[in-house]
Amino acid sequence: ETITVQELAKRMGERGADLVKSMFKLGTPVTITETIDRDTAELLIEEFGHRFVPVSEADIDIDTSIDVDADETLQPRPPVVTIMGHVDHGKTSLLDAIRGADVVSGEAGGITQHIGAYQVTLKDGSKVTFLDTPGHEAFTEMRARGANVTDIVVLVVAADDGLKPQTIEAINHTKAAGVPMIVAINKIDKPGANPQKVREELLQHEIIVEAMGGDVQDVEVSALKKTNLDGLLEAINLQAEILELKANPERAAEATVVEAKLDKGRGPLATVLVQRGTLNVGDIIVVGAASGKVRAMIDDHGRQVKQAGPSFPVEVLGLGAVPSAGDQLTVVENEARAREVAAYRQSVLDKKRTTSAPVSLENMFANRASTTKEFPMVVKADVQGSVEAIVNAVNKISTDEIRVRVLHSGVGAITESDVTLAASTGAPIIGFNVRPNAKARETAERNKVELRYYDVIYHLTDWVKSAMAGELGPEI
Ligand code: GDP
Repeated sequence: ETITVQELAKRMGERGADLVKSMFKLGTPVTITETIDRDTAELLIEEFGHRFVPVSEADIDIDTSIDVDADETLQPRPPVVTIMGHVDHGKTSLLDAIRGADVVSGEAGGITQHIGAYQVTLKDGSKVTFLDTPGHEAFTEMRARGANVTDIVVLVVAADDGLKPQTIEAINHTKAAGVPMIVAINKIDKPGANPQKVREELLQHEIIVEAMGGDVQDVEVSALKKTNLDGLLEAINLQAEILELKANPERAAEATVVEAKLDKGRGPLATVLVQRGTLNVGDIIVVGAASGKVRAMIDDHGRQVKQAGPSFPVEVLGLGAVPSAGDQLTVVENEARAREVAAYRQSVLDKKRTTSAPVSLENMFANRASTTKEFPMVVKADVQGSVEAIVNAVNKISTDEIRVRVLHSGVGAITESDVTLAASTGAPIIGFNVRPNAKARETAERNKVELRYYDVIYHLTDWVKSAMAGELGPEI
């Protein structure tokens, strides 16, 4: 009873690469042409929110007819936006200001609830969902867990301060995720504001904004004075239109956890964003390795809601345990099935904990088996001169067949942010005369990110060369 990953993907109507990625995260890396057993296939099917239908005991078959959303069932859904940027450049102020621009807030009279995400309704009736945990940690932490909920990134840059290390990190994270970006040039009310300088600095990072003849939208705003928030929201709407974001609201819900906590009175709470389908009060759900029944749902205005459709953030009550951000929520038919799926996911987690090897070159490449051959890495060094020398040296190793891609480079210790970036792409981190801090080491262990330390550049380049040669060896 086996099936190739490719065939399974085809029957599920999913991309093979996504299945490979999922397997990678479960700690059992495979390539797209490899076969997997029935249990693993069943798990993958559940992971993707599909239904497993054994045709006979001896056969594996998957009912795809109910699961691939037909074009005519798709309806536009609001974009999900994450705001990133350097500390103090105004992310929180901007999130607050935008929230204040919501036309529904006033009339509803509800109290503002911080649930990890909120939705605003614009004057033209369109809606935009914002994740209100600013910063790239949350963004990459979720991506490292395979959850891609963000459709658009708004990069905030203070016009009086320009590009700073965390701005550059945010740019690199966004690029690695392949998410389109809008630049909000903030604090234009300040005397020292120089928006043009920001645009020029962005050029050095291959971000060419519209004002410079490129296609990345840039908007000048002041979060403090609430200047041109409409312009920013319009830019988001325009980008959303280009993306043609759609989902089928008429099906069992699939959602992603964006925030979760334990409330003394109400028990485990999870804020989820519905990806497709509609979540209803009373639905039986599995979230990560926890299961339960939706007892109630609360929106970002503190109101009880009975239903939550695509891109609508709600806080869910009724889970048996606290899930993690990035966990998938799946609706199942009955409680027995919920317990079964939850137990199964737990057993896979346990197995993963005891048997999985650190990210090795082999599974790193398997992870990207179906994409163009790239060798991603993160480079940290003790001084700027070394950073530049290393980036130059490794870039020179690139050939026509395989290309080194430095996702991020910088001076200083290896941080948690470096690790989450590396984890989301299966890249190793190279430390040149630097080490990780405690938190980064722990995160690397948890996410199985390979850390390599060097103090001689040619040792480092030798390793990269041999790794790349191995990759290009016999056909994979
Ligand atoms: P964050 O760290 O990126 O979330 O930044 P905050 O939103 O906390 O803002 C940092 C500081 O910048 C605060 O003192 C804000 O009042 C101030 N600030 C934010 N936006 C603006 C703006 O548009 N103009 C001015 N003058 N100050 C701003």
